[in-house]
Amino acid sequence: MLLFTPGPTPVPESVRVAMATPTLHHRTPEFEAIFKSARERLFALMGCDEIVMLASTGTGAMEAAVTNLCHKTLLSINAGKFGERFGKIAKAHNLGSIELKYEWDTPASVDEILKAIDKDSSIDAVAIQISESAGGLRHDVETISAAIKSSYPDIMVIADGITAVGVEKIDITHIDALIAGSQKALMLPPGLSIIGLSNKAIEKIGTGRGYYFNLASEIKQQQKNTTAYTAATTLIIGLDAVLKQMQVDGFEKLYSRTKRRSDALKASLEAIGLHIYPKSPALSMCTVDDTDASQIRAMLKESFKVNVAGGQEHLKGKIFRINNMGLIESNEATYVVNAIELVLDRLGRRAYDSTASKIFSSVYEEL
Ligand SMILES: *Cc1c(COP(=O)(O)O)cnc(C)c1O
Repeated sequence: MLLFTPGPTPVPESVRVAMATPTLHHRTPEFEAIFKSARERLFALMGCDEIVMLASTGTGAMEAAVTNLCHKTLLSINAGKFGERFGKIAKAHNLGSIELKYEWDTPASVDEILKAIDKDSSIDAVAIQISESAGGLRHDVETISAAIKSSYPDIMVIADGITAVGVEKIDITHIDALIAGSQKALMLPPGLSIIGLSNKAIEKIGTGRGYYFNLASEIKQQQKNTTAYTAATTLIIGLDAVLKQMQVDGFEKLYSRTKRRSDALKASLEAIGLHIYPKSPALSMCTVDDTDASQIRAMLKESFKVNVAGGQEHLKGKIFRINNMGLIESNEATYVVNAIELVLDRLGRRAYDSTASKIFSSVYEEL
């Protein structure tokens, strides 16, 4: 089965092998050396002033960022399931919560965000997805965060980059917390999350909030290459291995290949009459809205052994999402678009003439 879902993504063989080594105790110089190496590679990837790793899925990092950086009211952008989650986290912690809601294909508007902040002086943090995985939507976080900071430099900007870090270079100039997660672009099993922090965020964190997710205690320990509680040793060994693998050709190459593959996916699917769902597509995945979405997914799985993701809630049965994160072989991506074209032929929608794979190859090979 070819796993082409936007999380979990396939774990490269070299990384699986690295994680198969005998268990290390976490309070040892041997593990601390691996921790240090993984940490340094993360600094190279994310460029933030400080970085902490947490033994949790991505949602844990979202919760930690909100509780430590928002002390009064959170403004969250809800253009999908993950944006909605930020508002739920704020409410669960009895913080004020204001939500700007968008259809799942529609990027947030800078003006509307600024207006919402102007109206409520209790807002001290804004949370947004860089890539909202529910619809494969890219918010213009660069412009939004710059606009917020130019009028409100003390408002914390929390950016969920779980399907963006490792996909494209993120401009962190105006971001206070940049969140990443193991099972998406970082190609690891689930269970490790990462938060990159600005110096301004560290100031606001102070002595931290909460217990397990107290970022002040994690920062203090992780600067010494250890963790406040038992480290996710196996995943951190995997993280070091996967970042090392990404660094073989360099992050820039990875980003440019990801961008080219994204362009190639879009162009090839549009060439066979399919429609790209989001108005501003993220590079992390290619989302198609289609009345036959359920059937296309089922046929891809049964006849071609390709697993792509569907939609949730009101988009259930209406979209399918093809992963574009990680180190993807171009022959596998070509196979996927070709399989989709064959499925359309079987559905009687369009006679197969290998357009999709031809367009994919020509766009991907350009440059
Ligand atoms: C997957 C994902 C998360 C968090 O997911 P977990 O299941 O907690 O790892 C958060 N935000 C985005 C954008 C995601 O894609």
